[in-house]
Amino acid sequence: MEKVILIRYGEIHLKGLNRPYFEKKLLENIKKSLRHIPDVKVVRAQGRFYVENYADEAAVIDALTRVFGIVSISPAYKVEKDFEVMTEYSKKIIEKFLTGFNKGVLTFKVESRRADKHFPMNSMEISRQLGASLLRQFPRLKVDVHEPELTLNVEVREFCYLYHEVIPCAGGMPVGTNGKAALLLSGGIDSPVAGWMIAKRGVKLTAVHYHSFPYTSDRSKEKVIELARILTRYTGSMRLHVVPFTRIQQELYEKCPDQQLTILMRRFMMKIAEKIARKEKASALVTGESIGQVASQTIESLVVTNDAVSMPVFRPLIGFDKLDIMNLAQTIGTYETSILPYEDCCTIFTPKHPVTQPRLNKILESEALVDGNILIKEALENIELIEL
Ligand code: ATP
Ligand code: MG
Repeated sequence: MEKVILIRYGEIHLKGLNRPYFEKKLLENIKKSLRHIPDVKVVRAQGRFYVENYADEAAVIDALTRVFGIVSISPAYKVEKDFEVMTEYSKKIIEKFLTGFNKGVLTFKVESRRADKHFPMNSMEISRQLGASLLRQFPRLKVDVHEPELTLNVEVREFCYLYHEVIPCAGGMPVGTNGKAALLLSGGIDSPVAGWMIAKRGVKLTAVHYHSFPYTSDRSKEKVIELARILTRYTGSMRLHVVPFTRIQQELYEKCPDQQLTILMRRFMMKIAEKIARKEKASALVTGESIGQVASQTIESLVVTNDAVSMPVFRPLIGFDKLDIMNLAQTIGTYETSILPYEDCCTIFTPKHPVTQPRLNKILESEALVDGNILIKEALENIELIEL
């Protein structure tokens, strides 16, 4: 007997040619996510992966639930294809479950699959005989084939696998199977969630953060580094570009109309991110914007912001309510860090009465009051690169 973890993956509708690529990347990503587990092995068999040879099961499960492309996992006993051995370990599973089960009667069923047609019993026979044997052993058991509290799964393949637990995982596609994008990562709630959503579709991320030292402190930078680090639990390694933004903000503040500052700043952020993206061989930008959330996120503002770049801008949260975004942030584990109260660069130079319906020609006129090319060049030359 050996304890293993069985991994199921999607996407069900993958086209034939993509499948081997998808599987190769997924295997790579699973292995990376388990790097911290000594001597662990990941093997592939019949459209599944199995993790073997580990001591800390909880740590393996924790890591796997965050690997995009995995639909669900099951901790299982891998045993000999021998009915007596199968019965013995089925009993262990029931016994263990019953210890933590506080109702008197436990309803159950046995669900069997026989992939190995050489096995002498068919799936019906396995279920029936195993079920009968369990009923004899445990008086607290009662069969319910429709809505059982416990389903004992028996899979007869190259070995026999026994399990009852199916743990849902993140789904999506393996990171690295769908190109690369640059994430504009602030210290807020939204952008980490936006990055997570795009990474979930298999896109590798590189992160860009604008920092306005000394208006924003080292602690606010640390906060963003921490957010990026939390994202790497899902995305694997990521580069974070910390871009000095103070000079740009000061120039805009001195030379441009106050109520346009936010939108002008946002255009600079996009332009710089696009340049970084090109250098990093990323082909799209990702932001945490959603319609109407703040003045700079009215449709008109988004149009003017978008005009600053030619690269596509992905805004996965565009139709989300703030509450839904907050819930998602909590689920993925970024929320607690995002709400730490350190100032971000935008709050400092925020106009009292920002334009909500900017006109592109007016914004372009104001933008011409500063030397954008030099400012951008300077910012790019002074990037601090953090490898996570
Ligand atoms: P978030 O919660 O992500 O900070 P927000 O609701 O505060 O978003 P804005 O401040 O208008 O909205 O920012 C919109 C988007 O612009 C952010 O989601 C992020 O993608 C990007 N952004 C804002 N500030 C920064 C920054 N300092 N560095 C990098 N990207 C930023
Ligand atoms: Mg913000």
